[in-house]
Amino acid sequence: MTETQNPLDVLIVGAGFAGVYGVHKFRSMGFNVLAVEAGENVGGTWYWNRYPGLRCDVDSLEYCFGFSEELQRDWTWTERYARQEEIERYINYAADRLDVRKDIRFNARVASTAFDEASALWTVTLENGDSYQSRFIVMATGCLTVPKTPDIAGIGDFKGELFHSVRWPRQSPDLSGKNVAVIGTGSTGVQMIPLLAQQARNLVVVQRTPAYCVPARNGPWPEERVEYWRQNFSQLRDMAKNSRAGVLHEYGILPLHAIRPEDREADLERRWLKGGPNVTYAFNDVVTNKAANEVVAEFFHRKIRSAVTDPATAEKLIPSGFPIATKRMCVGTDYYETYNRDNVQLIDLRTEKLEQIEADGIRTTDGFYPVDVIILATGYDAMTGALLAIDIQGRDGHRLREDWSHGPESYIGMGISGYPNMFVVTGPGSPSVFSNVVVSIEHDIEWIADCLDYMREHGKRTIEADPAAQDRWMDHVDEVAGRTLLNEAASWYRGANVAGKPQRFMPYVGGVNTYRDTCRQIAANGYEGFNIDGGSDARGEPAIAQAADT
Ligand code: NAP
Repeated sequence: MTETQNPLDVLIVGAGFAGVYGVHKFRSMGFNVLAVEAGENVGGTWYWNRYPGLRCDVDSLEYCFGFSEELQRDWTWTERYARQEEIERYINYAADRLDVRKDIRFNARVASTAFDEASALWTVTLENGDSYQSRFIVMATGCLTVPKTPDIAGIGDFKGELFHSVRWPRQSPDLSGKNVAVIGTGSTGVQMIPLLAQQARNLVVVQRTPAYCVPARNGPWPEERVEYWRQNFSQLRDMAKNSRAGVLHEYGILPLHAIRPEDREADLERRWLKGGPNVTYAFNDVVTNKAANEVVAEFFHRKIRSAVTDPATAEKLIPSGFPIATKRMCVGTDYYETYNRDNVQLIDLRTEKLEQIEADGIRTTDGFYPVDVIILATGYDAMTGALLAIDIQGRDGHRLREDWSHGPESYIGMGISGYPNMFVVTGPGSPSVFSNVVVSIEHDIEWIADCLDYMREHGKRTIEADPAAQDRWMDHVDEVAGRTLLNEAASWYRGANVAGKPQRFMPYVGGVNTYRDTCRQIAANGYEGFNIDGGSDARGEPAIAQAADT
């Protein structure tokens, strides 16, 4: 690591996609940057997660950095949906090529950050007591970082092996010949269940909410497709940036009522065969119009019934009680078909109550299931978990844990009133998890970089979201979500999966394209909605050193 100058211009927390790009971007502008990362290497969620079957369900040609022609040209993705191992290798490749590791401190978990008004500096303290001072901090802590461990009676009494998907051992355990239970059927459960069923003697799946799962139809990329992307990457990336979700889905342009019933069915079938989430974009009103939503949901119900041979099991797998696509769509391979195997049992917690976990198995109201291994695929304390794990103290005694006790509030997801010179990457109130997150990460890092440049050019000391602008933005975030069916599901998007977590729809669902335009306009208007103060810090130095001499 290069020697750290104190104070830093920018300290970044986290070295996933956002931290790696942040170090490169800010450093290339002449800023004095350091990232601190809890893991021993880069990768973020792709470093911590490594359970069997883990892939990204955004096309690999799109789930990658877009800012560098060179990085893009010299890397070849092998499959439509890249495995964890390939994505982790890619982030390491990017980190090597950008030579960012020298400005990242690994094995360094942040305990607290505190803003000092007199000096306008943040002090960032690690769990081991080391601390840094920095003029700006960038929270690149990720949306899906902190595992959620369920509070199930007796879980502490279990004498077998217990794993959480988010903390999967680097040396994957050998499950062959064992009786295994998986709790959770979200994206993680859906990916691991078919593979675990092949390894385990018996697999018991504990399902609280059945998943809508679309077939991935994963496979190697045809060479011509890879070449096409290589030749046209910038134009394709620009199209993605200007789309609703930052990814080149096949977005239907017509509402349900404008399409004849026989054409709807044919199009849904074509999209189903194509694989991936395209099927949920068949009409442009799937998440805003109940009737359109039900047409797609019923299509899925028929698919589940035709994939699963035992009708009773099929009924258990059919989701109910929430509109399709209001919980994150799952993408899987042979997910429903796995329940046709003799060694797979399904516990449906809608009809059978989980009483407790015992030393050697799971007891429900219907019986006892002996197991040697329990795997928790129970998800994350999403979007706010990693930020609130740090004791963040802003101006005037503001503490983020208190300020967000009724739910997260931000201005465009990146700024928070009361926390000057602190930026959040893909924070609540931005499209983040409702988009191709790498596209959103790049946007945020570049917007923050432009803002830092503005602060430097104008010799400014602090920038902070104005409370009224923040309120207006949050009203807009709520209003846009309120126009959809998204609040009708108890999803992690709303914090509903964590007991006691305040429920508020967290991502901005007005579209990546609209969001980018708004952010561009805010910057063009001299960072409208932010309060910008001062010309120099307490010691008479410009807020950020001029880059001219670097
Ligand atoms: P998740 O979507 O939150 O799913 C967790 C599952 O565990 C749900 O089925 C949940 O049921 C269940 N559960 C939680 N607590 C439980 C309890 N006490 N008893 C029984 N069941 C319980 O988490 P995830 O599957 O890890 O996925 C989270 C997100 O990560 C995804 O939505 C996606 O954005 C991302 N991800 C992406 C990929 C990919 O790219 N393919 C893969 C994995 C994850 P309820 O629904 O009833 O709460």
